[in-house]
Amino acid sequence: MIDLHTHLWPHEPGTALPTYDDLARACEHARSVGVHQIAITEHCHRFEEIAEVALPLWRRDGSPSLQAAADRVWDAERGAHLDEYVALLTAAQDRGLPLLVGLEVDHLPGADEAISSILHGYPFDLLLGSVHWIGAWLFDAYGDPTFGSEWDRRPVEQVWDAYVDAVIELARSGRVDVLAHVDVIKVAGNRPSDVSAFEARLCSALAASDVAVEVSSAGLRKPADELYPSPRLLGLLHDAGVGLTTASDAHQPEQLGDRFDEVYASLRELGVEALTTFTRRQRQRVPLR
Ligand SMILES: [Zn+2]
Ligand SMILES: [Zn+2]
Repeated sequence: MIDLHTHLWPHEPGTALPTYDDLARACEHARSVGVHQIAITEHCHRFEEIAEVALPLWRRDGSPSLQAAADRVWDAERGAHLDEYVALLTAAQDRGLPLLVGLEVDHLPGADEAISSILHGYPFDLLLGSVHWIGAWLFDAYGDPTFGSEWDRRPVEQVWDAYVDAVIELARSGRVDVLAHVDVIKVAGNRPSDVSAFEARLCSALAASDVAVEVSSAGLRKPADELYPSPRLLGLLHDAGVGLTTASDAHQPEQLGDRFDEVYASLRELGVEALTTFTRRQRQRVPLR
């Protein structure tokens, strides 16, 4: 099994990047639960080089309280350096750890091009593309009073529409290899009464672009209580020939390969025969056994 979406760096301010020993322990734990390859994919906003360039360019609409909350998130979590992060991961690869050098890249309208040019110079194996922000609203931080209460202010259809637009824009940009948690807009459990039109729109745009999509167990740990993508969307994507990867979105080593029995069972049930993985941003197919 492969887990191409993991974070080993706690989201508390001032925490240090993982060490080689942390990475080795994580790989060992992954192996013990049947995962033979992991990608380390820290969030791009945690790196100074990205924050400095992205913050002045990112067009983030929203109320003053949302803007202030967005600033707080970036201020609290930035501080690492890309050179150091990539050097740590490539050195671990050289020493034989079965990991991929990755990054989770947010779609930040206005700043995307500038972020891509920074990332271009690094030997990433894969870039995950994510939509977490609608303007200055971090919609998946539903536990935060400012971000969470925004769900009560906006019509849910309008929110889903804006989200789907953003994912499609990101997929078409060609800047990322895999779309992470492709229907994470359901994270807090807020869904329109009928999501089929949103899913159909997502699928047809993704099928026409050159991205793979992860099947993630993270939604099972959230109020959404469902894999990302939903069973119906996963079926549509598979029928359309979209490449698939598997992911836990672990935020601690114990979550590596979390509930992969359910992830892999749903893939087998669909008849998926191979997954997609990456080396230095080149796609490879690995048989699903
Ligand atoms: Zn994410
Ligand atoms: Zn993530």
